[in-house]
Amino acid sequence: MSNLLSNRNDIGHIFILVFYLNLSKFKEYKSDLKLLKMAKVRGAIEVNTEVCKGCEVCIPVCAEDVIGMSKEVNRKGYHYAFMKNPDACTGCTNCGIVCPDRAIIVYRVTV
Ligand code: SF4
Ligand code: SF4
Repeated sequence: MSNLLSNRNDIGHIFILVFYLNLSKFKEYKSDLKLLKMAKVRGAIEVNTEVCKGCEVCIPVCAEDVIGMSKEVNRKGYHYAFMKNPDACTGCTNCGIVCPDRAIIVYRVTV
């Protein structure tokens, strides 16, 4: 009988140990999650200036006002899109999606 009680106690201790181990793991996950939430995504675009035909479709879809039109023209005679405000790009990809000529590549990096 006393042997059985001691086994029960051991099992109880194991449960408590497992509970605390999981609790500390959970706290680690929580702090990782907090760090992830604090991480900021920055973006950048690369415009293929020879493919761009200067239609300006990409400009109004950029909520950050990143894109402007160049004063220079490409070989076909079109003004092309460029990053006039590069620090503001969030990498949302709106411009890349709407460009009818697939002239924009969007890069994203977590900082
Ligand atoms: S990726 Fe988004 S924020 Fe960056 S230039 Fe394109 S539309 Fe603007
Ligand atoms: S939508 Fe595409 S083709 Fe039109 S201006 Fe922007 S990059 Fe150039």
